[in-house]
Amino acid sequence: MSRWDWMAVRAYLPAVFALVVAFVSSLVLSRWQASPYLAPLASSLGWVPYAALAAGGVHGLWVTVRLWRAQYGVGLLCECGGLLGAERRGRWGDLIRTCRACGRHWKSGSYR
Ligand SMILES: [Zn+2]
Repeated sequence: MSRWDWMAVRAYLPAVFALVVAFVSSLVLSRWQASPYLAPLASSLGWVPYAALAAGGVHGLWVTVRLWRAQYGVGLLCECGGLLGAERRGRWGDLIRTCRACGRHWKSGSYR
């Protein structure tokens, strides 16, 4: 796989994680329904699989739109064309974004 493929895989990982949480939580909650002690807890946590499914779907759609826009050179992109990650504090306290393809760090406001 090329580094562009790995960049896409890394971008989709949170969505995949949310879908796994939705699947596992639905299995666990259905088993808890059979227990007389855990049934009230399971009924009060019944929203968790739906929330995780919605979060995974929204994040997957957002990543798809970002990758689609990156094909045309639009969006928060590195010079190499890779997607820039979320803004975070760098080593010297300034705000930076990291390219998901090449790993280069960009100071806030210095990217396209
Ligand atoms: Zn880059």
